[in-house]
Amino acid sequence: MKKLFALTLVLILTLCFAACSNDGNRINSQTAGSPPASSPATPSPETTSATPASSSTQTTASPAPPANQTALATDIPTAFSADLTVHFINVGQADAILVQLPNTQTMLIDGGNKADSNTVINYLHSNGISAIDYLIATHPHEDHIGGLPAVINAFPIGSVYMPKVSTTTQIFEALLTSVDNKGLAIHTARAGVNIIAIPGLQVDILAPVSNSYADLNDWSAVIKLQYQNTSFLFAGDAESISENELTGDIDVDVLKVGHHGSDSSTTASFLQKTTPAYAVISVGKDNTYGLPDDTTLATLSKYGVKVYRTDEQGTIVITSDGNNIRVNQDPVPYQSRAPSKPPKPSASTVEPSRASQIDSSPAQNITVYVTATGAKYHRDGCRYLRKSKIPIPLEKAKITYGPCSVCHPPQ
Ligand SMILES: [Zn+2]
Ligand SMILES: [Zn+2]
Repeated sequence: MKKLFALTLVLILTLCFAACSNDGNRINSQTAGSPPASSPATPSPETTSATPASSSTQTTASPAPPANQTALATDIPTAFSADLTVHFINVGQADAILVQLPNTQTMLIDGGNKADSNTVINYLHSNGISAIDYLIATHPHEDHIGGLPAVINAFPIGSVYMPKVSTTTQIFEALLTSVDNKGLAIHTARAGVNIIAIPGLQVDILAPVSNSYADLNDWSAVIKLQYQNTSFLFAGDAESISENELTGDIDVDVLKVGHHGSDSSTTASFLQKTTPAYAVISVGKDNTYGLPDDTTLATLSKYGVKVYRTDEQGTIVITSDGNNIRVNQDPVPYQSRAPSKPPKPSASTVEPSRASQIDSSPAQNITVYVTATGAKYHRDGCRYLRKSKIPIPLEKAKITYGPCSVCHPPQ
């Protein structure tokens, strides 16, 4: 009897041990495999080279052979180990977006200007990024690809996506060289390309749709990221032409506003289709273009979209647990962002020159100011006038310039 009991005990213990060590294995292989979890589990139809120069080489701990990783990849989807975190890195008048996917893979959408190379690289390092699984160059303008060559040199890179358009700029050549030097294949970014498709997590490219555009901006790769019940749309510099071409479900929670808030993007009809609750504008402080345009801000405000801006708030970080979205900042209120300093009577602002009181048209008397390169006219004292300040009668200014959205000059 005792013998039987002992045998049973041994049997139970053995079974238990086996089960436990199995569990242990599973956890081990998940954590080991997960960091930059190698090649996409589901090769997209566009993926020409099956194995993107795997970024998983970085994690040497994993004893798992490649065969195991395939099995592992199918396991990951249901067990997301982290939140989705999207960093709109403050790179001034440029775009650089780091996406930490909930399956622990990483994606970098654009890399700022060349001068931002170190900012981007340091930001990635400080967030513990050791490899980039998906690198997307939305379109070959310097403010989007400038920092990418340095990033490519500094990190193991998985797959590279770029629209099929080229320019002759040095920085574009540098990008191609860095991609080439690493032996990376370039996957064409265009509508219909799927980057990730696993249950609960989907990343698709929605644009460019057409085969040619007059403006490089409209070549922008537009990316939709769906994580469970939350979704993001990254519009690059896509302008209204491209926005109008987008089809399918583009109803999202977060919109990376196209073209730094220029009024050539973010039309009312686009906002009606996308209905974002949150919008991020990646734009430089005191940029000479006068961006974001007041029209864009007004439209966003009209549709009740909460707006976040890198020029006023620095890097914006948005997190999703699959159901809830959190932002590391408060939205910039549309009204108060124009500290509409009521024209102080004492300040030398807009002093209607008394000398010309004879002038019959009162508007003719108002002097506003423009800059050498900007597209806006300003009140005296506006911060945009720091570098250059050219007086001009309001009536003339209104013909070729728009009112500044910061100082709200008379219209
Ligand atoms: Zn741009
Ligand atoms: Zn551009």
